[in-house]
Amino acid sequence: MRIVAVANQKGGVGKTTTAVNLAAGLVQTGKRVLLVDLDPQANASTGLGQVGNTASSIYHVLLGELPLCAVLHAVSPAGLFLAPSSPDLAGAEVEIYPRADREQHLKRALAEASGFDYVLIDCPPALNMLTINALVAANRVLIPMQCEYYALEGLTQLLNTVRRVRAQLNPHLEVDGLLRTMFDNRNRLSSEVGQELERHFPDKLYQTVIPRNIRLAEAPSFGRAALEYDPSCAGSLAYQGLAKEFLQREGPK
Ligand code: ADP
Ligand code: MG
Repeated sequence: MRIVAVANQKGGVGKTTTAVNLAAGLVQTGKRVLLVDLDPQANASTGLGQVGNTASSIYHVLLGELPLCAVLHAVSPAGLFLAPSSPDLAGAEVEIYPRADREQHLKRALAEASGFDYVLIDCPPALNMLTINALVAANRVLIPMQCEYYALEGLTQLLNTVRRVRAQLNPHLEVDGLLRTMFDNRNRLSSEVGQELERHFPDKLYQTVIPRNIRLAEAPSFGRAALEYDPSCAGSLAYQGLAKEFLQREGPK
């Protein structure tokens, strides 16, 4: 079972859109995928039609109050399972912080997961204890990036965190890749930052580029992945391409 954290401490860079649509894309190739919504804002949960369930969410699993299997929902497309978030999750950080094993809660919870090929974790927009929990539980981190002026600065900070987590908490953690999201070819700055990424991270940068596409932004309000809402739009095609490239990187199993 591969565990992939979709992380970037910046908000609005396409983490949730990527987690949901990469998950759907992997499911379409026959994989069984668990999507863990680790953001208290619960965008991945509502975007898949699960309105904040305050009684059973990943929050309760992190605190050891419920087993993982008690909070899983089968969502669409068939083969996709969701561990939903709830607003309580915002408090989980404070609640687990005093505990000695505060970085290990999600890892322990996911040890119970079985029957999945992939677990994708949609991280909150912060380098907080929830994101650290994701990085400790994961084998890989996928970093969606908007190609704009401050993107590279944030990236350095995130990569330093990944390095620290690898050194102290999780030697198995690798950067799976950097993904250019909301890309607009006509925007010169976008192109320049995109090229900069190609120069600095030739082996980490995904060739697949996610274009700015309104259908991707509309899909969550229908409670569906874009890949289901409009399978032939440019955004869905890009995420299908991403799923393919992602699997190629994994190599034959
Ligand atoms: P994050 O999880 O990093 O905060 P989101 O995935 O929620 O980012 O994206 C932020 C906003 O941008 C959302 O409203 C989302 O629907 C929209 N969005 C994401 N990716 C795209 C895209 N490629 N084209 C157009 N809108 C997008
Ligand atoms: Mg998000």
